[in-house]
Amino acid sequence: MNLLKECEGVKTIGISAHIRPDGDAIGSTMALYLYLKKAVPNAEVKLFLETPPDCFGHLKYLNEIDSTYEWEGDFDVFFALDAASDRLGKAEDFFKNAKKKINIDHHISNASGCGDVNVVMPKAGSTAEVLFGLMEESYLDEDIAVALYTGIIHDTGVFQYSNTSPETMQIGAKLIGYGFNFSKIIEESFYQKTYLQNQILGRALMESIRFMDGRCIVSCIDKKMMEFYNVVPSDLDGIVNQLRNIKGVHCAIFMYEIGLMEYKVSMRSDEKVNVSKVASYFGGGGHVRAAGCTMKGTFHDVINNLSLHIAAQLEEEEACTTES
Ligand code: AMP
Ligand code: MN
Ligand code: MN
Repeated sequence: MNLLKECEGVKTIGISAHIRPDGDAIGSTMALYLYLKKAVPNAEVKLFLETPPDCFGHLKYLNEIDSTYEWEGDFDVFFALDAASDRLGKAEDFFKNAKKKINIDHHISNASGCGDVNVVMPKAGSTAEVLFGLMEESYLDEDIAVALYTGIIHDTGVFQYSNTSPETMQIGAKLIGYGFNFSKIIEESFYQKTYLQNQILGRALMESIRFMDGRCIVSCIDKKMMEFYNVVPSDLDGIVNQLRNIKGVHCAIFMYEIGLMEYKVSMRSDEKVNVSKVASYFGGGGHVRAAGCTMKGTFHDVINNLSLHIAAQLEEEEACTTES
């Protein structure tokens, strides 16, 4: 796909990404927004996204993000990044009604794409990485580079997760060539947590439960606890990774209450469990080692349902290991 050809002569371009946006959703949409404003100057470009968490304050032009989702008329082109259209929240209708729908993503659970034009690369570590490959370098500048870099570091755990490839590193190298203070961005947007974020992390770890002989771990934060610590869902980012970091754990589950008997579930795993498969079964999706879904029922219902699928995968894996 040629990004600029797709936007040739158009008057209105809209961009959005998934609800509860993470670093990749924010970084990649911001990068595309700045790029198109520069490369397609005659078009009106709009970026719709839920308000980004404070840790993304290093990105310039955050004030240009429209979180009101107020817009009349249909877009000539609408981009859905880092998600399929069913996770665009209030932007879903903009996408559906657009004259041309373009989907750029890297989720294996969205392999066929949901647009008229689709670039979905499940092997890419982030949507920002896919986007870099679609951009003409002559239009890149420091602000676009910072936005892409932010997307890449957040989705690859700062070039650590197995979705990091030689290409990811090469792109990272090119981006830091723009001269921004990348260590500060990594420290302040990825690692640093507020005191309250650390407190709730501590609470989640304290109350976690191991099961299946310590191969799985789960922790849950309910609404009352979120109110007690005065935190919002984005303050819980990273808890599931910390659970996964525990020796012997192959699969970590973190869930928080979003409604009456309704939970947002996050799963992380190593090579033994394909959590995208588990999440997809329950109507969510994601990647092989990082996936999520929304589930109804009590805490115990959710764990019972998830653990059946996880146990089946672990048993199958163990049978294969014993055979070989
Ligand atoms: P999370 O656990 O929310 O950090 O998500 C892990 C990965 O799975 C991210 O790449 C998300 O974009 C993706 N993901 C989370 N929830 C869903 C869902 N309901 N449907 C599809 N993908 C999801
Ligand atoms: Mn994302
Ligand atoms: Mn992503």
